[in-house]
Amino acid sequence: MIKVLKLKPVHWQVMRRHVAAQAPLEACGLLAGKQDSVETVLRVRNAEQSPVRFRMDAQEQYNAFEWIDANGLDLIGIFHSHPSGPEFASPTDIAQAAYEVVHIIWSRPKRTWNARGFWIEKGKMTEVTLQVLSEQ
Ligand SMILES: [Zn+2]
Repeated sequence: MIKVLKLKPVHWQVMRRHVAAQAPLEACGLLAGKQDSVETVLRVRNAEQSPVRFRMDAQEQYNAFEWIDANGLDLIGIFHSHPSGPEFASPTDIAQAAYEVVHIIWSRPKRTWNARGFWIEKGKMTEVTLQVLSEQ
């Protein structure tokens, strides 16, 4: 279980731009890295093209997994947005969480996009701290 996920500012920006560009539709993607450190954000098309649901495009998800493998990285996170929904993982998100990774939810409770991380296991979610490291 990851309690603190480390990201670089660029990872935060890539995710935020993607979710903002796709709104009002939900957007999604994957985080690749090692242990608790993100190295790359991979944007994936939401095949549902829906404001309240997401399902990763199967081909893009497959390609992303291949890329992560080929680069010696691991899948350590999945992100998606709730353009008009809660800051937390929804009951559907919890029920469908298929990977033991950090689940990042982007929402805009105060009009500004913000992300929160959750570890979902056996139907329960625990908040994960998203630590954005300063640029070196
Ligand atoms: Zn959701």
